[in-house]
This record gives sequence, structure tokens and C-alpha cells, in this order.
Amino acid sequence: MPGIKELRKTLSAALREGLLSHAVLIEGEKGTGRKELAVWLAKAILCRSENSPCENCSVCRKIENGNHPDVEIYGAAGGARSFHIESIREIKNSLWLAPNESEQRVYILLNVENMTAEAQNALLKSLEEPPAHARFILTCDNRRSLLDTIISRSTVYTLEPPTREECSAALREKFPELSEKEAQLFAIAYGGNFGAAASGVSDGRGDMILLAAKTPDILKKGESYTLAAELSALCKTRADLSEYLERLLNITGRCGIDRAAGKNTPVRVTPIEAVKTSEIIERAKEAVLQNCSVELIGSWLCMELSGVFGGNL
Ligand SMILES: [Zn+2]
Repeated sequence: MPGIKELRKTLSAALREGLLSHAVLIEGEKGTGRKELAVWLAKAILCRSENSPCENCSVCRKIENGNHPDVEIYGAAGGARSFHIESIREIKNSLWLAPNESEQRVYILLNVENMTAEAQNALLKSLEEPPAHARFILTCDNRRSLLDTIISRSTVYTLEPPTREECSAALREKFPELSEKEAQLFAIAYGGNFGAAASGVSDGRGDMILLAAKTPDILKKGESYTLAAELSALCKTRADLSEYLERLLNITGRCGIDRAAGKNTPVRVTPIEAVKTSEIIERAKEAVLQNCSVELIGSWLCMELSGVFGGNL
């Protein structure tokens, strides 16, 4: 996956030269592959093959399957302060014990931005004076949400989000059934976030993306009734409608910007149309928050967007 490749090279080199810090912090937005990179690094640390990680030996496979006795994964995806001190206490229970099968113990701590301050402080003690056999791999979305003292005891590696081109190429690699245009649309609709776009493909959100992508064209032909019908078929709930709005916002926004820069875009949207669309979407989102009916917002939306794209009612 893009973004990860370069970091893998950097981390491999650090490991080879014996320069890898005992605490590595992988920073990156959701969907950039933080966990994937953390697990890969655990393999790279423990795999004994020449081309470590080989992804083939029993060490690599055990780590991949989450049952290597010297690799422990902690983390909480429940939002802020859902990562409690109990997990750190558990780590402390095994930290000083000799590793079971390998030469080192690897602790992977995911989403450390969700740690309570209490948990971060407790972790700090382990990061300060760890036993020689211990390695910590932390992931977070943004280092600013962590205590300075945690950051200063770790080496931070930042995962850059992939470009849209990298994202759509990676999507086609993972989902060969996607056409180039579909992959592009998914990449745009999810703002270039590979993880989110890939879930969108797996969850069958293609119809939603296609509807958002063809919205400007439908309206330019003056067929707002077609849009209204397709919207009410696809968007049964407020969550559906919110998703449609989000995809439409990304697609028109991105294509408007690219068009302003003279680039080819899969959807024809002028910068002015993009700005007007974003204003309408903001108002529609407010209406969703205020619990207006999905049908009502849908018809209001068709009417307002018709005004932007020049169709007749
Ligand atoms: Zn291996």
C-alpha cells in the first residue's frame, strides 16, 4: 500500500543498522495503514530469515494470525479515553519476563491517542527504562494528542496519506474487478483514504459513489426527477443520506479543484459549481442533524442542486 512502502524501507534500514529505537511511534490518519505497518515491523523485528520479514516462516505467520506468544497487541477503538490503564498494567506484568520463543518481546499499542492521561503516564515509566528484550510499537492519528514525554521517548514515523493516483492504483490492485474510472471515483469519493475506500468497495457502496459521481450530469440534462428517484431508492436513512452528501462533497470539490488546475477529471464540475455545491451540502448536513425527514431533504437537495448545474425543474 502506498506511503507504507517508503517507511518499510526506512524501518528496515534502521533495524539492519541496529538503529531502531526501542519505542517506535507510527503516526498517520485513519486508513493510511498504521496497524498494517506496526504488524509488519513486529515481523521484521522477530523474523530470523535473511529477508526479514519473509511473511512465510512460522514466526511471521504466527504474528499475522495474532498468536505469537511474544507479540502482544493492545488498543481501543472506542474513541477518546477508551484506552485504560488496566492494559498498561497487563503489559507491566509480562514486560520483565523473558520472551517465550523469540529473542524479544514486542508490544503493539494501537490508537494511543485514545489513552487516558493516567494510562499515558503509566506507559511512560515502561518506555523510560524498558528491559533490553522489549520493543514498543505505538500508533496514533496525531502526535499532538499525546504527552510530550511519550513523544520524546519514541522515534516518530509519519505515514503520509496516499495521493489519489496511488490510492486508485492500489484499489485496482486489490479489487481487479474495478474499472479504472470506478477506482478513480472511489479514490476521489473517499478523499484518497485507501482504507476507507477499500471498505467502501467491500461493503458494496459502489451505487452510492456512482450516484454521487453522475449527479452533476443528471442535473445538467434537467433530470432532477431522475436524481430524486435514485436518491430515494438509495438513501433510506439519515446515515445513507449523510454518506451520499459526503461522497458528493468530495467528488465535486476534488474535481472542481482539479479542473481549476487544468487537469482532466472523471466528473465535469467547474470550480464555481463546486463551491455552490459545498454550500448546499453544508445546509443539507445541518438539516440531517436537525432530524428533518430524509425525503424532505432529498427533494430540497435536488431542487437546490438543479439551480447550480443549470437544469430545469
Ligand atoms: Zn519470517
